[in-house]
Amino acid sequence: MATSVMWFRRDLRLADNPALVEAIGAADDVVPLFVFDPRLWDPAGPPRRCYLSASLRALSDRIGGLVVRCGDPVEMVAALAREVNAESVHVAADFGPYGGRRDAAVEAALSEAGVPLVRTGSPYAVSPGRVRNQQGDGYQVFTPFAKAWREHGWRSPAATPRAVSWDVSLRSDDWPTAQLPAGIQLPAAGEAAARRRWRAFVGDKLTDYGPSRDRPDLDATSHMSVHLKWGEIHPRTMLGDLAAAHADQRAVTTYRTELAWREFYADVLARRPDTAREYYKPEFAVMAYDEPGEAFEAWKAGRTGFPIVDAGMRQLRTEGWMHNRVRMIVASFLVKDLHIEWQHGARHFLHWLVDGDLASNNHGWQWTAGCGTDAAPYFRVFNPVEQGKKFDPDGHYIRRYVSELADTPAPQIHEPRNPIVDHAEERAEALARYERVRGR
Ligand SMILES: Cc1cc2nc3c(=O)[nH]c(=O)nc-3n(C[C@H](O)[C@H](O)[C@H](O)COP(=O)(O)OP(=O)(O)OC[C@H]3O[C@@H](n4cnc5c(N)ncnc54)[C@H](O)[C@@H]3O)c2cc1C
Repeated sequence: MATSVMWFRRDLRLADNPALVEAIGAADDVVPLFVFDPRLWDPAGPPRRCYLSASLRALSDRIGGLVVRCGDPVEMVAALAREVNAESVHVAADFGPYGGRRDAAVEAALSEAGVPLVRTGSPYAVSPGRVRNQQGDGYQVFTPFAKAWREHGWRSPAATPRAVSWDVSLRSDDWPTAQLPAGIQLPAAGEAAARRRWRAFVGDKLTDYGPSRDRPDLDATSHMSVHLKWGEIHPRTMLGDLAAAHADQRAVTTYRTELAWREFYADVLARRPDTAREYYKPEFAVMAYDEPGEAFEAWKAGRTGFPIVDAGMRQLRTEGWMHNRVRMIVASFLVKDLHIEWQHGARHFLHWLVDGDLASNNHGWQWTAGCGTDAAPYFRVFNPVEQGKKFDPDGHYIRRYVSELADTPAPQIHEPRNPIVDHAEERAEALARYERVRGR
């Protein structure tokens, strides 16, 4: 009997999973493997650990078991392949800086045992590196990328396997424990939950998505980011459903464009892996920044005195998620009002976000900080009071998270209370610092 290994990573589903289709085609039995890698597990905060554990339980329930190992994947995957005398190990390609290096090392270790690591598909509709301009280069800015991405197109979803002969008889390590801090509520995890959420969004909310998606007070976005992060659904499945949806076509186009942002940032990071930590526009590295101190702690705790900023930072701590508009407002505040480098904020986000994704997060930060792929100039600085009035006009969003303002009516609710800085002064300061590097 021939055996293959399906090594699940960020593709915790059975439907539309081309790597799984390959694993089934390659052998009689398939071993479903997940490796808890300390390099990824240790830096993740409690919300992401808990969500991942719940998603793995859902996958294990569907399969009827999961072989789990804890440790360095280079050792773990090669050891398991030897143990079961595997024909091949199957994965979806990982284009992240760490994932790419890890897979190359696993591939080398497996080749010593004569076992190929077979990469099929990726977590994207169009794999990073495929969308190219006429000169064969990747795109620097989003709009032409999105156009070329649409023109490139994507495959139809892969068939869902009917009967898989899973081999779950091998020993598993104990799963690491994940403790959710009191007061945090996470969304339901797993492939079925992802499908439910997606169907509900397409059925009830897609048509209003265009005008409402920027309003954190309305629950108008899809909340699919966490399901996409863990591959509980593939974006190609979603794009197929969008094409068939009986919804306003402008809304369909807008939603498709949001998915393109995710693909764009993955493409940028694959081409420039240094930008996971370094400035996309290197000139910003020499700008004057402040060390994170008390102001940074106040920002993290949602105690800046700017209501919309505090609401967002508290939403992050209670839900492991934050609305996109508010992510931009709080990121701009950290960089341009507190003059703290984006990397500090990005790390805090990655600790708390259940959808925490290196490419979308770190490039979302760089975009907002003005040092990334944004074509808009650095001197666009978000005014947190005006942003609050515009996108949370009645103050419902603020009231939901900032309990001390529960009885404050709009528009007063948007006014700063004991603010830690003066926005007008800090805006001028940010622009002055920028001017000092601009002339260099
Ligand atoms: C500072 C900052 C940090 C961010 N960090 C992350 C992160 O760690 N993980 C993450 O998935 N997204 C991140 N985003 C992008 C965006 O905020 C979230 O994808 C979105 O809020 C998720 O909610 P939703 O699924 O309801 O979005 P919807 O509005 O329903 O959007 C649909 C999908 O499109 C994609 N998408 C939408 N906007 C963006 C965007 N700007 N960039 C990339 N993809 C996008 C997501 O996959 C999202 O699920 C960040 C944005 C900023 C400004």
